[in-house]
Amino acid sequence: MSRVLIVGAGLTGSLCACLLRRELQSRVELVVWDKARGSGGRMSTSRPPDPTCQSADLGAQYITATPAYAQSHHSLYSELLSSGVLQPLNAPIEGLRKQDGSRDYVTPLGMSSVVKHFLSQSGAALFFERHVTGLYRRGASWEVQRRAGPSEVFDVVVLTMPVPQILQLEGDIGQMLSEQQRQQLDRVRYSSRFALALFFPPGAVLSLPWAARYVPDNPCIRYVAADAHKRNADVPGRGPSLVVHTSVPFGLEHLEDNKEDVQPIILQELYQLLPDLPQPIATKCQKWRFSQVLTAVPSCPGHMTVHQQPLLVCAGDAFSHSNFDGCVESALSALSAVKASL
Ligand SMILES: Cc1cc2nc3c(=O)[nH]c(=O)nc-3n(C[C@H](O)[C@H](O)[C@H](O)COP(=O)(O)OP(=O)(O)OC[C@H]3O[C@@H](n4cnc5c(N)ncnc54)[C@H](O)[C@@H]3O)c2cc1C
Repeated sequence: MSRVLIVGAGLTGSLCACLLRRELQSRVELVVWDKARGSGGRMSTSRPPDPTCQSADLGAQYITATPAYAQSHHSLYSELLSSGVLQPLNAPIEGLRKQDGSRDYVTPLGMSSVVKHFLSQSGAALFFERHVTGLYRRGASWEVQRRAGPSEVFDVVVLTMPVPQILQLEGDIGQMLSEQQRQQLDRVRYSSRFALALFFPPGAVLSLPWAARYVPDNPCIRYVAADAHKRNADVPGRGPSLVVHTSVPFGLEHLEDNKEDVQPIILQELYQLLPDLPQPIATKCQKWRFSQVLTAVPSCPGHMTVHQQPLLVCAGDAFSHSNFDGCVESALSALSAVKASL
């Protein structure tokens, strides 16, 4: 049995784990490590501060399936729809640009429920707060070092974190990248933005004519969502939640600032935009340094093989594009590389 380590419990990592289990069943021992305290990555759902409030999606907001991807990823879409993880988006989103024939979906339990669904299907051993710092070749295996705790040995490693975080890894990976691969990875670019969640007490009324809105021409705020409402998930008796995404120029301008210093600026802009908003009982601010991929790895099949034997593969949205279907494409492509090597 081969030991496979997937680094990253975001959508790409969870899909890799799930697809590997389905294809290879008991021929692989699957292990997933993530440096965070929970799964989701950029599809993270922030838990409410107490049970009287509703959760909030800090990263990805909804899933848009183009007709072509609805067809090519049909089995995954129907799996998520039939298990209730996805539901059609019914609430109004102001400023949403509709593509011809595309369908939008929301996640009643939050975006991280998509990731959790695939992780639970994978039966992988899942470990949080495991921050990978280096990869060293030891004969036919990889020794994987982490920030705290002993290193472990695996036969195959799949890295799914954002590319700049892959390039920070110590050990043999640096020398194993060809000149061309390094140049391709160096060229990857991400947008940056801040997200702010506001949690309101039960009984608070948001009185907004939309479930979410793209804000044009605001230097700070690009998007606001009455989050549970957008997800068809308003629970009577629970306080609503609101999510704000900043514009990309604002994110870039404040990229090196502490989120604690940026939060009051966002709040001030928000109350200017929506003066009737009640006061929240809690907030959570997130800096997305690597938000969405602006420049992906060029002419890439969805993954990059850094080393064949033992196999080391990089995957994630930077190897395709930044959305649900981009992660599916990358996971499918990484799957084929792992299957071929085993
Ligand atoms: C603000 C925002 C809005 C978005 N909106 C949408 C949307 O509406 N619809 C849509 O489809 N997509 C949207 N996206 C894009 C989508 O979220 C991403 O394309 C997708 O989540 C990427 O998944 P991933 O698994 O490739 O990477 P990630 O989700 O980034 O997962 C990588 C994981 O690796 C972990 N990690 C990193 N370094 C290490 C390390 N050294 N050791 C261990 N673990 C590590 C991280 O903690 C993370 O969990 C949005 C993204 C953002 C940020």
